[in-house]
Amino acid sequence: MGPGPSTVPARILQAISAPTLGHLDPQYIGYMDETCEMIRQVYRTKNALTFPVSGTGMAGMETILVNLLEPGDEAIVMINGVFGGRMKDNMERCGASVHAVEIPWGKSFTPDQFAEAVAAHPKAKMLGVVHAETSTGALQDLSGVGDLLHDAGMLFAVDAVTSLGGHDVRVDEWGIDAIYSGTQKCLSCPPGLSPVSFSDRAIETMEARSSKSRSWYLDVSMLKNYYTGGGGRAYHHTAPINMIYALREALAIVLEEGLDARIARHREMHGLLREGLEGLGLSYIPDHSLCTLNCVAVPDGIDEAAIRRRLLDEYDIEIGGGLGVFAGKAWRIGLMGESASKRNVTTLLAALKDCLPAG
Ligand SMILES: *Cc1c(COP(=O)(O)O)cnc(C)c1O
Repeated sequence: MGPGPSTVPARILQAISAPTLGHLDPQYIGYMDETCEMIRQVYRTKNALTFPVSGTGMAGMETILVNLLEPGDEAIVMINGVFGGRMKDNMERCGASVHAVEIPWGKSFTPDQFAEAVAAHPKAKMLGVVHAETSTGALQDLSGVGDLLHDAGMLFAVDAVTSLGGHDVRVDEWGIDAIYSGTQKCLSCPPGLSPVSFSDRAIETMEARSSKSRSWYLDVSMLKNYYTGGGGRAYHHTAPINMIYALREALAIVLEEGLDARIARHREMHGLLREGLEGLGLSYIPDHSLCTLNCVAVPDGIDEAAIRRRLLDEYDIEIGGGLGVFAGKAWRIGLMGESASKRNVTTLLAALKDCLPAG
């Protein structure tokens, strides 16, 4: 019940131990195509260029940025926690001049703040924002942002690492041009892949580059032949075959449950947890809390690490501590994928009650 990895169902662990096929074996290519199609369904997109990057969520972030930005470009990044800060760092490493819009941790951006950022930096090529800021537990409303950016001729880049599979993510409806996620959070798969998707607008931008992407490994102009079959399935790097088996199984589990039902389950478990935590006198830090990551303030005078240690030693429950400015001041409780269950919520609440000082 930390900020990931979440509990992995046995079906996925079995899938990962299937015999390793070759990365150009037609049977394996079939599995990969099925995996890409299921990623499209979970992202609610028709984008042809949708595939799992070999690497964790951070590799997805780098893939988006290193392919869409070139030296000399301008970019806007919205920062309200750790991961927005990492986006800025990565944008700078791509050679872009970055305009950061920062608000206090735990807050979410208003539509006006997006509009002001776009008006202040009209030459920006892209705006990047985190949908689910895992360091603070804040959910960002993304509706309307895509239209605003497209009217200004900008691309919309989104981090959906802690939302995909737990919150609604509507790539086409929200006009998202480039998005990445990770396997080990709400998809309940082991860490190791990052599902990404690019719109046609993003593809045109990549095709119009005047310089090569600064990363060879993450260069989409080469990767796309392998993943989409365009121009033949050329070898680029050996795909992480068994991780694809795992992701294929994880996505099948998501779609068997049904996206809407799964999102409703996360909402319901969040409601139950929130009621219990507030009943214990704990308060949520963000104004607009995620369902998938619950960030509460540690009461004064409590050694938060000692309580996490007791939860782990006595109850086999892992929760997260604070990150960045919240280090030592917050607990981060994940309700991600398989871990978002009534059993987990009621057990954690009882355990916390036992560990917190009475009254
Ligand atoms: C976990 C996380 C990442 C990074 O993913 P890794 O799998 O650790 O590389 C990026 N963004 C957000 C919002 C995350 O929660």
